[in-house]
Amino acid sequence: MMQPIYSLVIPIYNEEENITEMYRRLHDVAEQLAGEVELILVDDGSRDRSLSMIRELRHRDSRVRYLSFARNFGHQIAVTAGLNFVQGRCAVIMDADLQDPPELIFQMVEKWQQGYEVVYAQRLARKQESWLKRFTAYAFYRILRRLSHVDIPTDTGDFCLLDRQVVDILNAMPERNRYIRGLRAWAGFRQTAVLFEREPRFAGKVKYTFGKSWALAVDGIISFSTVPLKLATYLGMVAAAIALLMIVLVLYWRLFDHASPLIGYSLITIAIFFLGSVQLICMGILGEYIGRIYEEVKARPIYTVKETGGLIKVSEMQSK
Ligand code: UDP
Ligand code: MG
Repeated sequence: MMQPIYSLVIPIYNEEENITEMYRRLHDVAEQLAGEVELILVDDGSRDRSLSMIRELRHRDSRVRYLSFARNFGHQIAVTAGLNFVQGRCAVIMDADLQDPPELIFQMVEKWQQGYEVVYAQRLARKQESWLKRFTAYAFYRILRRLSHVDIPTDTGDFCLLDRQVVDILNAMPERNRYIRGLRAWAGFRQTAVLFEREPRFAGKVKYTFGKSWALAVDGIISFSTVPLKLATYLGMVAAAIALLMIVLVLYWRLFDHASPLIGYSLITIAIFFLGSVQLICMGILGEYIGRIYEEVKARPIYTVKETGGLIKVSEMQSK
């Protein structure tokens, strides 16, 4: 078989309702692209019929390649794994639920051919997502930009086209905390956006629970900023300033004015709880960083594979 030019990387977790339609849409797109296409489907430990449907696709269409994780490792890891097996001259990362319209690939390819190594899809609007999701996403991307040194564009997800050079760079990154839209921005090169409206999910329920989204957001900030570590310093300075002011006040009241208002247990109780919570929050932030350092030094494999189809074996890739 010919070396593919386009590798489409698609993470799949319990998407049995979407796989058929996704394949149909991608098949149409692949027909219209000039050049060989491969579909790399990454089954992230699905518990529904997704894997058998993927096997079936592989059976029908040799351009479909897949790997299946031994358990659920999460979206970012699934994408990472897919990128590890990309053979094309560029890779497109997209979701399986058709929220990322496959037809946008044409515009991405056009930009790529103009010489951009990274073409990311930037959302114009979020159809049918709750105001809470829209607001938190809006706020998060702006906070992240303020806190990090890396210029991570707002309102972008993982839907993007990456040139081979960038795929190789991402594959060479050893870290296991993979915040792909951040790593992609970190890599540099010529980057540009294509605008799109994010569709509602074709079928099925969202796999990103609030907890997973929160974890992803924390990962993004911790992996790309050390500003939270400085919080303790600033809060400490504020507390010291308040303490100094109080010392001066108490001395003044003792020496010149006998009616000191600074009395009572309630004041002391509030002060204890306030400082206690500040200290605990700062320790928690330290813990977030230390936990990640611990994860990294253990250097376990990022994922475990139980089955592949049409891909070069992991071991061969690693020894390459
Ligand atoms: N996904 C995955 N592993 C997970 C959760 C999600 O591979 O643990 C996949 C999912 O099948 C989909 C994509 O990641 O293709 C995005 O997930 P989802 O649509 O639930 O989240 P969204 O980003 O749209 O909120
Ligand atoms: Mg989705």
